[in-house]
Amino acid sequence: MQAAVLIEPGKIEIREAPTPSPRKGEVLVRILEAGICGTDYACYMGNLTTIYPIIPGHEAVGEIAALGKGVEGVRVGERVTIQPNFPCTACPVCRSGHENVCPDKVRLGLDVDGVFAQYVCVPRPYVWPLPDGLSVPVAALAEPLCVALHAFRKNPPAPDERVLVYGAGVIGLLLVRLAVLSKARVAAVDIAEQRLAIAKELGADTIYLTFPELERDAGSFSILYDTSGAADAFSNIVNVAAPGGSIVLTGLPHRDFPLPTSTIVRKELTIRGSMIYRDEFPAALNLLKGGEMKTDLLITETYPLEMLSRALEDFRAPDRVKTLIRIP
Ligand SMILES: [Zn+2]
Ligand SMILES: [Zn+2]
Repeated sequence: MQAAVLIEPGKIEIREAPTPSPRKGEVLVRILEAGICGTDYACYMGNLTTIYPIIPGHEAVGEIAALGKGVEGVRVGERVTIQPNFPCTACPVCRSGHENVCPDKVRLGLDVDGVFAQYVCVPRPYVWPLPDGLSVPVAALAEPLCVALHAFRKNPPAPDERVLVYGAGVIGLLLVRLAVLSKARVAAVDIAEQRLAIAKELGADTIYLTFPELERDAGSFSILYDTSGAADAFSNIVNVAAPGGSIVLTGLPHRDFPLPTSTIVRKELTIRGSMIYRDEFPAALNLLKGGEMKTDLLITETYPLEMLSRALEDFRAPDRVKTLIRIP
């Protein structure tokens, strides 16, 4: 099969690789389209521990090409999206219902070869058939939507509640839309005007390009989501949160930052981490099928697999939201 192989940070080669064959309980998926995510960028830049060489990528839609022994409930030719983290299901963390933070989970594209290739093997419980009428590129947003939905469900806003989304990348924009759909009043902050324009199109009523702009409305936000993981994000968020407010962190910085602890106590803020997703795939696919997420606004470009390096180099461009890779 053809695959994009990350040889070392910054170096991707498109080469022939052996086509995997499904083991017991696995399905072989022929990848059609795959999304580029912050994790892939971090991996490409050498900011995330992985093994080399590896086929990166974890957000994908494909078609089932073969079934391993004992697989039931799906058929060859069926279109599926992939849930790309496989928890061990046996450890105390998994057994207590926190599979998303299983210390032994296997991550597609980081621990094992991922989806920037023609084929990948996935355990049966982690492929989700596409509902009728859901297109391949829109379904490619299921995984990031699950990330947003998991964060959103930590503290869903009530109608008219004032929500701040810090960082208007894909996850931030999906959170903006989820909050708008629940009739909250939504504000977004980012350093890129182009992304804030999309936040407005998705229904945000206020946008902030700089922290001084945001600071003018300090104290008015009762639910705040950080999707940026930026160095100053958390202290800025704590500073503009309303007393009694609730903060959900889903952006993943590459290191820990100091906390404004006394402000957190004085405002009696609630702070929650949100890591990937657990059981959000059916709800995410349903939402995407309904069309009300307006995901067409989020797909910036589709590149062929040979241009994966170029697409990764462009990852931080201010006019880019979700880039898809078409697999030959
Ligand atoms: Zn992702
Ligand atoms: Zn586990």
